[in-house]
Amino acid sequence: MSQQAANTESSIDALLRPHVRTLVPYSTARDEFTGEAQIFLDANENPYPSPVNRYPDPHQRELKAVLAKRLELSPEQIFVGNGSDEAIDLLVRAFAAPGDRIVVMPPTYGMYAVAARSHDVEVLPVPLGEGFLPDEDAIERAHTSNDKLLFVCSPNNPTGNLIAPDTIERLAARFPGIVVVDEAYIDFSDGPSALTLLSGNERLVILRTLSKAWGIAGARVGIALGHRSMIRALDTLKAPYNVNSLSQRCALDRLAAAGEVLSQLAELKRERTRMAAELKKLDSVVHVFPSDANFLLVRFRESGRLFRGLQAQGIIVRDRAREPGCDGCLRISLGTPGENTRLLTALEELQ
Ligand SMILES: *Cc1c(COP(=O)(O)O)cnc(C)c1O
Repeated sequence: MSQQAANTESSIDALLRPHVRTLVPYSTARDEFTGEAQIFLDANENPYPSPVNRYPDPHQRELKAVLAKRLELSPEQIFVGNGSDEAIDLLVRAFAAPGDRIVVMPPTYGMYAVAARSHDVEVLPVPLGEGFLPDEDAIERAHTSNDKLLFVCSPNNPTGNLIAPDTIERLAARFPGIVVVDEAYIDFSDGPSALTLLSGNERLVILRTLSKAWGIAGARVGIALGHRSMIRALDTLKAPYNVNSLSQRCALDRLAAAGEVLSQLAELKRERTRMAAELKKLDSVVHVFPSDANFLLVRFRESGRLFRGLQAQGIIVRDRAREPGCDGCLRISLGTPGENTRLLTALEELQ
C-alpha cells in the first residue's frame, strides 16, 4: 500500500499525461540568471521605476518560503497559483486527457466540473450521501480506468461539513487516481486538515487559498500542496508569471499580519454560532446545517420568495435550491456582526 517515496520513481509520474512528463517549461529571463546583479538588460522591461516595472518572480520564492515555514513543508511541495482555481485547472490538464473523466461529489464547488469540461474532460457525479458524506461504495462501483481525479471538498461548499481525514484516506486507498482535497475553508474549522495524510500518500494534493479566511480574494492567490513530482508538473504547465508581483506582495503582507486574521476568524466563528441559533428561531427556517466554514446552508420554507425579498432589500445570498439534496436551501456567508443582524431583521420582516 504505502509507497517508498524516497527511492522509487513516484507513482505520480505514471499517472501524468505522457506529454506533461516530458514537457520542458518556458525558461524566463530571470531563470537563466542567478546571483546578484545591478543592471537588468535581459527582459525587455522599461528601466524607469514604477511599482511594477519588473517582471514578478516566476517561482514566488519569498512567498513559498513563508508558506513552507507556516505549513511545515518544503518549498518544493508548494505550488502558488492565480487563485486555487488555477490549480484546479492545471490538475485537470496534467492528469486528464479529452475523453477521460473526473469524479465529483455534488452538491459541491462548481469549478471542478467547469474546469474539466473546458478541457473536453467528462464529469462523473457521485452524489454525497447521508449527512453530505462521501458514498465510498458508490464511488468504487462507478469507477472506471478513465477516472483520473477525484475532487473532495472539505469543508464542503455549499454544505459546510468537514470530511474526516480517515474518510479521505479510505477514498484514496480505493480510488487509484489523483485525490484532490480542496481545503478552501479549513481555517474556519476546528476539525483536522488532511495535511497529515500528505507524507503517506503521493497521489494526494491539497488546495488552500488566501481568498477566504486570509481576506485577499481580490489578489487571487491560491495554493496547492503535494508531492514534489506533483508540484513540478503544475509548475511546468503554468504560465511563467502566473502570480503578479502586487499579489505576491499582498500575500506576504497578509501572512505577516496573521494575528489580525486570527482575531477576525474568532469573530466569524462566534457569529457562526450566533447566526445558527438565531436563524433556527425563525418560522421560515426548516433546518440550519452544521458548518465548519464561513457560511451557513439554511433550508427555508419558501426559499425562492425569501431570496427575491432579500435581493429587493439589497441583501444578496446564494440560491442553492437546485443543487442535489439542497431543496429550499440558501447559502448565507457570514458578514460583520452588523451585516448579519441586518440579514436577520430582513428575514423576520419577510416571513
Ligand atoms: C472560493 C473557493 C475556491 C476558490 O478559491 P480561489 O483561490 O479564490 O480561486 C476554491 N474552492 C472552493 C471550495 C471555494 O469555495
